[in-house]
Amino acid sequence: MDKIRIGIVGYGNIGKGVELAVARNDDMELKAVFTRRSPADISIATETAAVMHIDDMAAMKEDIDVMVLCGGSATDLPVMGPEIVENFNTIDSFDTHARIPEYFENVDKAAKDGGKVGIISVGWDPGMFSLNRLYAESILAQGSTYTFWGKGVSQGHSDAIRRVEGVKNGIQYTVPVEKAVERVRSGEEPQLTTREKHLRECYVVPEDGADLKAIEQAIKTMPNYFDDYETTVTFITEEELKENHGKMPHGGFVIRSGETGTEGSKHIIEYSLKLDSNPEFTASVLVCYARAAYRLSKNGETGAKTVFDIPPVLLSKKTPEQLRAELL
Ligand code: NDP
Repeated sequence: MDKIRIGIVGYGNIGKGVELAVARNDDMELKAVFTRRSPADISIATETAAVMHIDDMAAMKEDIDVMVLCGGSATDLPVMGPEIVENFNTIDSFDTHARIPEYFENVDKAAKDGGKVGIISVGWDPGMFSLNRLYAESILAQGSTYTFWGKGVSQGHSDAIRRVEGVKNGIQYTVPVEKAVERVRSGEEPQLTTREKHLRECYVVPEDGADLKAIEQAIKTMPNYFDDYETTVTFITEEELKENHGKMPHGGFVIRSGETGTEGSKHIIEYSLKLDSNPEFTASVLVCYARAAYRLSKNGETGAKTVFDIPPVLLSKKTPEQLRAELL
């Protein structure tokens, strides 16, 4: 059987994760990594794949079945997504929640113009969490849905800390409040405020001679980032940051509790993730959706899709017959 030929666009955390994920799926092969930087400066692990400048992508049109777009959501993907899908099937992990409908429209138009498929906003949230909310809410028509994130590093909040005056470096963890999770799991269906659901733990390396009280105050009162949360600030050294905070763990829970049939008949549905590496996991989700994009395109489909539009059978390496035999 021919392997699915994968291209990676952008070689950051997710891009590197996609390379590792492709290596773990024997129905796929990595053909090339495309970057905006000088290809000579990028070394990849896959010896059989090329590193090319993004401007040379068109030359690979016949050599790549699916491009996995690994640029950032803020400014890279809104431009790259519609541009690249005119020539290639694409998958991306666009996660600017409020802009997903607009991004979908732009990718959809370009994909239809080019006769390609673009599956957008694939990952864990948006992605697997979105799917599990949909399943749970469709099954338990009456009830309440809760999403808790963490414990994990929030890139946006870590960046915000690093912009505070007197801060040399820093990292922020979002942590679910255990008591709130337990109340939800008990089926109580509590009304929870933002502050009751998550804590924000900040680890900060101050510049020499910085005013620690002022840094703590600036972080805890920062609007949109920390002022709605219980926030802790712990000062550490650069060495401690390197030693204890170098990984990118994440995870969380989607929980729906609801009633069916006779009054008082309660059910709890829970989907939970505990990730050692957020980018490696996100990349693994992207790669199985690349398989779906390939198959959809082979069947003549075009346009933008989200995880909601993809039948599970298209994600699996197994045939529909094998999967049917394993239904029980
Ligand atoms: P990175 O910042 O690591 O990479 C983004 C881009 O920056 C890369 O594609 C790369 O492009 C460029 N880049 C990376 N390293 C360097 C460097 N050393 N020097 C210069 N440029 C560099 O972002 P992530 O890979 O961590 O995340 C990408 C996006 O994935 C995020 O914006 C986030 O929105 C999304 N995401 C979605 C999730 C979900 O569940 N849906 C989960 C996690 C992330 P180039 O090679 O062209 O220079």
